Amino acid sequence: MWDWLFGKGASEHAVQKMQARLDQDMWARLHGAMPFLHGLSANEEAALQHASAWFLASKTWDGANGLQVTDEMALCVAMQASLPILYLGEKWYEGWTGIVIYPSAFVTRHKTHDEAGVSQCHSNVTLGETWQGGPLILSWEAAQPHDPRDLQAMHSNVVIHEFAHKLDMAHGPADGMPFLGGTGIEPAHWMQTLESAWQQLVHAVQQLQSGRPADSSSRAGHRLFNHLPMDPYGATNKIEFFAVSSEVFFVNPAPLAQWNPEWYRLLSLFYRQDPLQRLQSKATDSVAAAAP
Ligand SMILES: [Zn+2]
Repeated sequence: MWDWLFGKGASEHAVQKMQARLDQDMWARLHGAMPFLHGLSANEEAALQHASAWFLASKTWDGANGLQVTDEMALCVAMQASLPILYLGEKWYEGWTGIVIYPSAFVTRHKTHDEAGVSQCHSNVTLGETWQGGPLILSWEAAQPHDPRDLQAMHSNVVIHEFAHKLDMAHGPADGMPFLGGTGIEPAHWMQTLESAWQQLVHAVQQLQSGRPADSSSRAGHRLFNHLPMDPYGATNKIEFFAVSSEVFFVNPAPLAQWNPEWYRLLSLFYRQDPLQRLQSKATDSVAAAAP
Protein backbone atom coordinates (compact mmCIF):
# COMPACT_ATOMS: atom_id res chain seq x y z
CA MET A 1 0.00 0.00 0.00
CA TRP A 2 2.85 2.34 0.83
CA ASP A 3 5.10 1.18 -2.03
CA TRP A 4 4.89 4.57 -3.68
CA LEU A 5 6.59 6.10 -0.65
CA PHE A 6 9.49 3.66 -0.70
CA GLY A 7 12.78 5.33 -1.52
CA LYS A 8 11.28 8.77 -1.83
CA GLY A 9 13.83 11.47 -1.11
CA ALA A 10 13.95 13.67 1.99
CA SER A 11 11.69 16.73 2.20
CA GLU A 12 13.05 20.05 0.97
CA HIS A 13 13.03 21.23 4.59
CA ALA A 14 15.25 18.31 5.67
CA VAL A 15 17.58 18.90 2.71
CA GLN A 16 17.92 22.60 3.60
CA LYS A 17 18.73 21.68 7.19
CA MET A 18 21.37 19.18 6.02
CA GLN A 19 22.83 21.73 3.61
CA ALA A 20 23.15 24.32 6.40
CA ARG A 21 25.07 21.74 8.46
CA LEU A 22 27.54 20.80 5.69
CA ASP A 23 31.14 21.19 6.85
CA GLN A 24 32.47 23.70 4.30
CA ASP A 25 36.13 22.94 5.09
CA MET A 26 35.51 19.26 4.45
CA TRP A 27 33.64 20.18 1.27
CA ALA A 28 36.53 22.34 0.01
CA ARG A 29 39.11 19.65 0.81
CA LEU A 30 37.20 16.92 -1.02
CA HIS A 31 36.35 19.24 -3.91
CA GLY A 32 40.04 20.11 -4.33
CA ALA A 33 40.98 16.42 -4.42
CA MET A 34 38.53 15.59 -7.25
CA PRO A 35 39.61 17.51 -10.38
CA PHE A 36 36.56 16.37 -12.39
CA LEU A 37 34.43 18.60 -10.12
CA HIS A 38 36.43 21.69 -11.09
CA GLY A 39 35.22 24.32 -13.55
CA LEU A 40 31.57 24.31 -12.41
CA SER A 41 29.70 27.63 -12.57
CA ALA A 42 28.40 29.23 -9.35
CA ASN A 43 24.89 27.88 -10.11
CA GLU A 44 26.26 24.40 -10.75
CA GLU A 45 28.25 24.51 -7.49
CA ALA A 46 25.04 25.43 -5.65
CA ALA A 47 23.19 22.56 -7.39
CA LEU A 48 26.01 20.16 -6.43
CA GLN A 49 25.73 21.19 -2.77
CA HIS A 50 21.94 20.83 -2.83
CA ALA A 51 22.09 17.40 -4.46
CA SER A 52 24.81 16.25 -2.04
CA ALA A 53 22.72 17.39 0.94
CA TRP A 54 19.70 15.59 -0.59
CA PHE A 55 21.81 12.43 -0.77
CA LEU A 56 22.99 12.63 2.81
CA ALA A 57 19.43 13.25 4.03
CA SER A 58 17.73 10.68 1.77
CA LYS A 59 19.92 7.57 1.80
CA THR A 60 20.94 5.14 4.52
CA TRP A 61 24.69 4.68 4.88
CA ASP A 62 26.02 1.37 6.18
CA GLY A 63 29.54 0.03 6.50
CA ALA A 64 30.33 -3.63 5.87
CA ASN A 65 33.21 -5.82 7.12
CA GLY A 66 33.66 -3.58 10.16
CA LEU A 67 33.87 -0.27 8.28
CA GLN A 68 32.43 2.77 10.08
CA VAL A 69 31.08 5.18 7.46
CA THR A 70 32.32 8.64 8.47
CA ASP A 71 30.71 11.96 7.49
CA GLU A 72 33.63 12.53 5.14
CA MET A 73 33.13 9.18 3.35
CA ALA A 74 29.40 9.80 2.90
CA LEU A 75 29.99 13.36 1.65
CA CYS A 76 32.69 12.17 -0.75
CA VAL A 77 30.33 9.59 -2.30
CA ALA A 78 27.43 12.07 -2.34
CA MET A 79 29.48 14.73 -4.16
CA GLN A 80 30.57 12.31 -6.89
CA ALA A 81 27.09 10.83 -7.29
CA SER A 82 25.59 14.32 -7.59
CA LEU A 83 27.61 15.33 -10.65
CA PRO A 84 25.68 13.19 -13.18
CA ILE A 85 22.30 14.49 -11.94
CA LEU A 86 23.16 18.21 -11.80
CA TYR A 87 20.67 18.81 -14.63
CA LEU A 88 18.55 15.66 -14.32
CA GLY A 89 17.38 16.25 -10.77
CA GLU A 90 17.40 14.15 -7.63
CA LYS A 91 14.21 12.27 -8.58
CA TRP A 92 16.35 10.06 -10.81
CA TYR A 93 17.89 8.52 -7.69
CA GLU A 94 14.59 7.83 -5.92
CA GLY A 95 13.08 4.35 -5.52
CA TRP A 96 15.80 2.86 -3.32
CA THR A 97 17.58 3.91 -0.13
CA GLY A 98 20.63 1.87 0.85
CA ILE A 99 24.28 2.69 0.23
CA VAL A 100 26.67 0.07 1.62
CA ILE A 101 30.41 0.70 1.77
CA TYR A 102 33.07 -1.99 2.13
CA PRO A 103 36.64 -1.09 3.14
CA SER A 104 38.05 -2.48 -0.13
CA ALA A 105 37.17 -4.85 -2.99
CA PHE A 106 34.52 -7.37 -1.92
CA VAL A 107 33.23 -10.73 -3.04
CA THR A 108 29.71 -11.06 -4.44
CA ARG A 109 27.82 -14.27 -5.02
CA HIS A 110 24.94 -14.52 -7.45
CA LYS A 111 22.62 -17.21 -8.64
CA THR A 112 21.63 -17.20 -12.29
CA HIS A 113 19.19 -19.45 -14.11
CA ASP A 114 19.95 -20.48 -17.65
CA GLU A 115 17.37 -21.34 -20.32
CA ALA A 116 17.36 -24.99 -19.24
CA GLY A 117 16.43 -23.87 -15.72
CA VAL A 118 19.83 -24.70 -14.27
CA SER A 119 20.88 -22.31 -11.55
CA GLN A 120 24.52 -21.47 -11.09
CA CYS A 121 26.38 -19.59 -8.39
CA HIS A 122 29.01 -17.05 -9.43
CA SER A 123 31.58 -15.40 -7.18
CA ASN A 124 33.24 -12.17 -8.23
CA VAL A 125 35.67 -9.82 -6.60
CA THR A 126 34.27 -6.39 -7.32
CA LEU A 127 34.61 -2.68 -6.49
CA GLY A 128 30.94 -1.81 -6.80
CA GLU A 129 27.53 -3.28 -7.41
CA THR A 130 24.03 -1.95 -8.06
CA TRP A 131 20.71 -3.68 -7.61
CA GLN A 132 17.50 -2.77 -9.42
CA GLY A 133 15.33 -1.09 -6.74
CA GLY A 134 17.87 -2.16 -4.12
CA PRO A 135 21.13 -1.01 -2.57
CA LEU A 136 24.22 0.39 -4.18
CA ILE A 137 27.46 -1.12 -2.88
CA LEU A 138 30.94 0.42 -3.11
CA SER A 139 34.52 -0.24 -2.07
CA TRP A 140 35.83 2.77 -0.14
CA GLU A 141 39.36 2.09 -1.39
CA ALA A 142 38.07 2.55 -4.95
CA ALA A 143 35.55 5.33 -4.23
CA GLN A 144 37.84 7.75 -2.37
CA PRO A 145 39.78 10.51 -4.17
CA HIS A 146 42.95 9.20 -5.81
CA ASP A 147 46.46 10.48 -5.96
CA PRO A 148 46.73 12.52 -9.20
CA ARG A 149 49.87 10.54 -10.06
CA ASP A 150 47.78 7.35 -10.29
CA LEU A 151 46.73 7.94 -13.89
CA GLN A 152 44.80 4.68 -14.23
CA ALA A 153 42.69 5.51 -11.16
CA MET A 154 42.25 9.15 -12.23
CA HIS A 155 40.66 8.01 -15.50
CA SER A 156 38.01 5.82 -13.96
CA ASN A 157 35.37 6.37 -11.31
CA VAL A 158 33.53 3.56 -9.56
CA VAL A 159 30.97 5.92 -7.97
CA ILE A 160 29.87 7.43 -11.28
CA HIS A 161 29.90 3.92 -12.78
CA GLU A 162 27.48 2.49 -10.23
CA PHE A 163 25.23 5.55 -10.29
CA ALA A 164 25.10 5.42 -14.09
CA HIS A 165 23.63 1.91 -13.63
CA LYS A 166 21.04 3.47 -11.29
CA LEU A 167 20.13 6.02 -13.97
CA ASP A 168 19.87 3.21 -16.54
CA MET A 169 17.59 1.31 -14.11
CA ALA A 170 15.47 4.32 -13.12
CA HIS A 171 12.73 3.63 -15.69
CA GLY A 172 12.98 -0.16 -16.09
CA PRO A 173 15.59 -2.90 -16.29
CA ALA A 174 19.08 -1.78 -17.36
CA ASP A 175 19.77 -2.04 -21.09
CA GLY A 176 22.29 0.73 -21.77
CA MET A 177 19.55 3.24 -22.62
CA PRO A 178 18.24 5.48 -19.84
CA PHE A 179 14.91 7.29 -20.23
CA LEU A 180 15.45 9.83 -23.02
CA GLY A 181 12.33 12.00 -22.56
CA GLY A 182 13.10 15.70 -23.00
CA THR A 183 16.45 15.11 -24.70
CA GLY A 184 15.24 15.15 -28.32
CA ILE A 185 17.16 11.90 -28.91
CA GLU A 186 15.35 9.18 -30.86
CA PRO A 187 15.65 5.90 -28.91
CA ALA A 188 16.51 4.06 -32.16
CA HIS A 189 19.36 6.49 -32.77
CA TRP A 190 20.66 6.00 -29.21
CA MET A 191 20.58 2.21 -29.60
CA GLN A 192 22.30 2.33 -33.01
CA THR A 193 25.04 4.64 -31.75
CA LEU A 194 25.45 2.60 -28.54
CA GLU A 195 25.72 -0.62 -30.56
CA SER A 196 28.31 0.74 -33.01
CA ALA A 197 30.40 2.46 -30.30
CA TRP A 198 30.33 -0.71 -28.19
CA GLN A 199 31.36 -2.82 -31.20
CA GLN A 200 34.15 -0.34 -31.87
CA LEU A 201 35.46 -0.90 -28.32
CA VAL A 202 35.05 -4.69 -28.53
CA HIS A 203 37.04 -4.69 -31.77
CA ALA A 204 39.77 -2.43 -30.31
CA VAL A 205 40.10 -4.64 -27.21
CA GLN A 206 40.29 -7.79 -29.35
CA GLN A 207 42.99 -6.22 -31.52
CA LEU A 208 45.02 -5.17 -28.52
CA GLN A 209 44.66 -8.57 -26.91
CA SER A 210 45.73 -10.60 -29.94
CA GLY A 211 49.19 -11.90 -29.15
CA ARG A 212 49.57 -9.54 -26.20
CA PRO A 213 48.85 -9.76 -22.47
CA ALA A 214 45.11 -9.79 -21.92
CA ASP A 215 45.41 -9.07 -18.24
CA SER A 216 44.72 -5.37 -17.77
CA SER A 217 46.08 -5.56 -14.22
CA SER A 218 49.61 -6.37 -15.44
CA ARG A 219 52.03 -3.51 -16.16
CA ALA A 220 52.17 -4.42 -19.85
CA GLY A 221 48.39 -4.66 -19.82
CA HIS A 222 48.12 -1.14 -18.41
CA ARG A 223 50.29 0.26 -21.19
CA LEU A 224 48.19 -1.54 -23.79
CA PHE A 225 44.87 -0.43 -22.43
CA ASN A 226 46.08 3.16 -22.30
CA HIS A 227 45.41 3.10 -26.04
CA LEU A 228 41.69 2.78 -25.36
CA PRO A 229 39.36 5.70 -24.54
CA MET A 230 37.99 3.82 -21.52
CA ASP A 231 38.49 0.76 -19.33
CA PRO A 232 38.25 -2.42 -21.46
CA TYR A 233 35.60 -3.62 -18.99
CA GLY A 234 33.21 -1.50 -21.10
CA ALA A 235 33.44 -4.19 -23.78
CA THR A 236 31.66 -6.69 -21.47
CA ASN A 237 28.17 -5.76 -22.72
CA LYS A 238 26.12 -2.67 -23.63
CA ILE A 239 24.97 -2.08 -20.04
CA GLU A 240 28.57 -1.92 -18.82
CA PHE A 241 29.53 0.12 -21.88
CA PHE A 242 27.06 2.85 -20.89
CA ALA A 243 28.36 2.86 -17.29
CA VAL A 244 32.06 2.88 -18.26
CA SER A 245 31.39 5.54 -20.93
CA SER A 246 29.71 7.66 -18.23
CA GLU A 247 32.84 7.40 -16.05
CA VAL A 248 35.15 8.80 -18.73
CA PHE A 249 32.50 11.26 -19.94
CA PHE A 250 32.83 12.98 -16.56
CA VAL A 251 36.42 12.36 -15.51
CA ASN A 252 38.44 12.16 -18.75
CA PRO A 253 36.18 13.22 -21.65
CA ALA A 254 38.71 14.27 -24.33
CA PRO A 255 39.73 10.78 -25.57
CA LEU A 256 36.06 9.67 -25.61
CA ALA A 257 34.92 12.75 -27.58
CA GLN A 258 37.72 12.24 -30.09
CA TRP A 259 37.18 8.47 -30.41
CA ASN A 260 33.43 8.60 -31.07
CA PRO A 261 32.07 12.18 -31.29
CA GLU A 262 28.46 11.09 -31.86
CA TRP A 263 28.42 8.87 -28.75
CA TYR A 264 29.91 11.74 -26.74
CA ARG A 265 27.26 14.09 -28.16
CA LEU A 266 24.41 11.77 -27.14
CA LEU A 267 25.84 11.39 -23.63
CA SER A 268 26.07 15.18 -23.30
CA LEU A 269 22.45 15.53 -24.50
CA PHE A 270 21.30 12.93 -21.97
CA TYR A 271 23.27 14.37 -19.03
CA ARG A 272 22.59 17.98 -20.23
CA GLN A 273 26.27 18.76 -19.58
CA ASP A 274 29.46 19.14 -21.61
CA PRO A 275 32.35 18.17 -19.28
CA LEU A 276 34.88 18.47 -22.11
CA GLN A 277 34.06 22.14 -22.62
CA ARG A 278 33.94 22.72 -18.85
CA LEU A 279 37.31 21.11 -18.14
CA GLN A 280 38.95 22.73 -21.17
CA SER A 281 37.78 26.23 -20.23
CA LYS A 282 39.01 25.61 -16.68
CA ALA A 283 42.43 24.62 -18.11
CA THR A 284 42.46 27.82 -20.24
CA ASP A 285 41.58 29.89 -17.15
CA SER A 286 44.50 28.33 -15.22
CA VAL A 287 46.93 29.16 -18.06
CA ALA A 288 45.60 32.74 -18.24
CA ALA A 289 45.89 33.10 -14.47
CA ALA A 290 49.47 31.83 -14.58
CA ALA A 291 50.49 34.14 -17.45
CA PRO A 292 52.65 37.13 -16.49
ZN1 LIG B 1 28.92 -2.12 -13.96
